[in-house]
Amino acid sequence: MDEIHIPNDATYAPFSLTDVIATAPLASRLLLGATLPGRVLSAAALGMYAGSALKDWVSRRDVRWIDFQREFGCDVRTLESMPRQARKDEVFRIATRLDEGFTDERIPRDELAVTVNEQLTEYIAGITGQRVHTSSEVRDFTLARLVFPFAMGVCDVVSGDVALFRDTGIFEPHIICHEFVHRKGYWKELHAQALSYFALMSSGDPVLVQAARAERLHRQLKVLAADDHEVYHALVESLDVRRELKEEFHALRPEPGAYESSVSVVMKRLYDERLRLTGQNGLSDYDEGFTNLLWTFSRSRRARQEARQASI
Ligand SMILES: [Zn+2]
Repeated sequence: MDEIHIPNDATYAPFSLTDVIATAPLASRLLLGATLPGRVLSAAALGMYAGSALKDWVSRRDVRWIDFQREFGCDVRTLESMPRQARKDEVFRIATRLDEGFTDERIPRDELAVTVNEQLTEYIAGITGQRVHTSSEVRDFTLARLVFPFAMGVCDVVSGDVALFRDTGIFEPHIICHEFVHRKGYWKELHAQALSYFALMSSGDPVLVQAARAERLHRQLKVLAADDHEVYHALVESLDVRRELKEEFHALRPEPGAYESSVSVVMKRLYDERLRLTGQNGLSDYDEGFTNLLWTFSRSRRARQEARQASI
């Protein structure tokens, strides 16, 4: 098996280098009344950040990328739209499977990150014949949390730094895996959603499989609710699943506070725009695009991968 090692040095720094670059001059001015120490620190962080990004970029040059159209019969521009009734049927079926397979086991985050990363590496290698090894480090704070209050986690595509913003319960394996797909060099949201789903489902681990199914159901509910908060929660209540599962789905979409909602409106629009400018369909790739990909793949006659990977 062909092996590639991406160093991801920035992810091992004690603090997010992006945060140090952004805040060191201001912090030293506030704390010491002087800007020089902060500037020196900021410049040092910038050097490390750029150096790490460059090393990652160099080691990524030999990566064999997954061709989504060839493997799954569709990609960002060739998705078929899943009919609404098919979505409703799927919601019913996933809910049943989730309830049957329910586990309250929780794996500590560090250990979970290593397990998820290994699964993802093996899943991708099963397609490309190449293991792309990346860091399993996860932070729980970066300033990005203030800028993207609606996000669960974030991956800095330049440095590969990943942060999770809160405890996301049974969804955590998926959130980590999604960000780790970015770290492996796939920056499109549709690809991160799909590869995370397939990798976790193929693991056979009840905690990981539960996260993948829960994410698929969550995204179907979001499409059906069309971004309406109340409709989403009403749909969750209507699911024929145990209370613990309903609580997990409610907790994923809490009532936003005043800061979150005002920042979210602006940032979501900008973020949507950024996704469009980078050859994606927009924020809809997280839910509508992702579920359309599973739908199109499951019905494709050209896909090289077995369609049963898209089953529930
Ligand atoms: Zn993402």
